Amino acid sequence: MSIVNYKPEVLQAAVYYWQRRFRMLDWDIAVIFVPRETFHDGDTVADSNTDSRHRQAVIRVTERMELDEGFELDYRNAIAHEFVHVLLWDVPRPGKDGTPQWLFEQTVETIGRGIAALTPWDELSEVS
Ligand SMILES: [Zn+2]
Repeated sequence: MSIVNYKPEVLQAAVYYWQRRFRMLDWDIAVIFVPRETFHDGDTVADSNTDSRHRQAVIRVTERMELDEGFELDYRNAIAHEFVHVLLWDVPRPGKDGTPQWLFEQTVETIGRGIAALTPWDELSEVS
């Protein structure tokens, strides 16, 4: 069992860092922590809701969870994954253009992990 946890302020600072990098400063993106029970699907640790018309998004992350043996959770990757969903708000949703849902999710995950790996987490932790 392995969890890489980060303070909420650091995760919010990371989102703001990505907003600057991806020129999304006209967006209001909030990170909120919610009880585990909020997600009815047992595997979900985060989700996002995007209102492109008002350039607003809310990323919800589970505040704490019990993990099964062998399951790893890195909040940095989880939050980056959701940021990519917000970033790709105008990309057609899976199904509409024939793209399988799993392929879309895998792509978002790969981009998210790349973004998380390139983020100066130590710097963001010092500022927050
Ligand atoms: Zn996803």
